[in-house]
Amino acid sequence: MERRKDFSDLKREVIDNGNCALCGGCVATCRLLDYGLLRMDVAEGGPVKGEGQQYAPAASCFFSQGKPVIRPGQQCPPSCGYCYYQCPRVEAPVLKEGLEEIYEVVSKDETIRGACHNGGALLSLLVSALEDAIVEGCITIADKAGKPEVRVAMSKSSLIEGAGSCYGSAATLTGVADAIVNQGLWTVALVGTPCQIAGYEKMLEVGRGTHNAHNFSSSVRLRISLFCTGAYSYDALVKEYLERKQGIPVREITRLDIRDDGLHVYAGDKELFHAALSEIADYKRAGCKICEDFAGRFSDISVGHIGTPAGKSTVIIHTDFGKEVFERAIEWGYIDAKPIDKAGAELIHRLQQEKREAGLAEKAKRKD
Ligand code: SF4
Ligand code: SF4
Ligand code: SF4
Repeated sequence: MERRKDFSDLKREVIDNGNCALCGGCVATCRLLDYGLLRMDVAEGGPVKGEGQQYAPAASCFFSQGKPVIRPGQQCPPSCGYCYYQCPRVEAPVLKEGLEEIYEVVSKDETIRGACHNGGALLSLLVSALEDAIVEGCITIADKAGKPEVRVAMSKSSLIEGAGSCYGSAATLTGVADAIVNQGLWTVALVGTPCQIAGYEKMLEVGRGTHNAHNFSSSVRLRISLFCTGAYSYDALVKEYLERKQGIPVREITRLDIRDDGLHVYAGDKELFHAALSEIADYKRAGCKICEDFAGRFSDISVGHIGTPAGKSTVIIHTDFGKEVFERAIEWGYIDAKPIDKAGAELIHRLQQEKREAGLAEKAKRKD
C-alpha cells in the first residue's frame, strides 16, 4: 500500500520548493489545529501605509512572506496528512465553468465610499450579505497598526474599522477555523486572494472527513476573491529594488499602489516613481510566480479596481449564488451597477491571460 504522505512531504514538495501560496489551508485543516501544532510563520516586513487602499483589490496582496511551520520537536500522528492532501499546490482543485458577468460598481453608502476610495463594492456586498442575514460574519484581512491581520467581522462598523490602508496579505483560511471554533458562526463570507479561495475549494474537494472536527464545507456560504497580480516580498521590492536599486529612501515613501499599468510610489501627493509590472515581476514571492489565477475563478464574486475608472469597483460574477447576492445588494440599495465597458472587459481578459501564461511558463521552467 502506498505510504500516506504528511507534513514532511508538504514541506519538501511545496514549502521548501517555493511553491507555497501562503493560503493557510494546511493550518486550518491540521488535525491538531486546537493544539496549535502547525502555524503560519508570517515574516515581519513593515508594510508601507497609504491612503487609497483597503481590502484593496490587486494591491491588497502586496506584501507577504512566510511559511507554514510545525512546532519544533513535535511529531505528527501516524497516517494523518490532512495538510498534504488538501494543499492546492499539491494538486489544484478542479475548475467548474460558470458565469462571467463583469460590472462597474459603486457603493451607495457615503461612509463606505469615504472609507474605501475605490468604489466600495466589496464592503457594500459584505454589509449587504450581513444585513440580509446571508452570513453571520465575514472573514477578511484587516489593517492592524499597518499590518495585515485575519479578522472575523460581524458588523458594518467592524468592516469599516478594518478597512484601513494595508498592503499585506495574511493566511485568510486560518480565519475559517477561528470563525467556526472560536466565534461559533454557522455561515460566513470568505474574502481572499485567488489562491486562498482555491485553497478553500480544495478543502471542499478533499472532503469533510479530513477536516479535523470542523465542518468547513457548510459554513462558508459566500466566497469573494480579490483581483491579484501578485504578492511581493517587502525586503525584495522595497529594500532591494526601490531603496538599493532605484535610490528611493524607504522613509520617504508614504504610499505604494499597484495598478494595471504597474507600481506607483508616492511621497504624499507627489509620485516619486513608476515601474511596469514586468519590471518588478522578479520581486514577487516565489509561490506567486507560478500562480495562474488573476480574478479568483473559484469564487462566487471577484472584486477589484482594475478596468474601471478611479472611484469605481470592478465586480465579476462567477456563480448563480454570487449573482443572487449581487442582485440583492442592488435591490436593497447598497450598490449601483452597470455592465463594464468594452475596454475594461478587454483589460481584465488580457490580465487573466497574461497571468495564466506567466504561471504556466514558470511551472515549466521549474520542472526542467
Ligand atoms: S499553499 Fe496553502 S495549504 Fe499549501 S503549504 Fe502553502 S499555506 Fe499550506
Ligand atoms: S500531518 Fe496531520 S498533524 Fe501533522 S501537520 Fe499535517 S495535518 Fe497536522
Ligand atoms: S499571485 Fe496567486 S499565489 Fe500570489 S497572492 Fe496572488 S493569488 Fe495568491
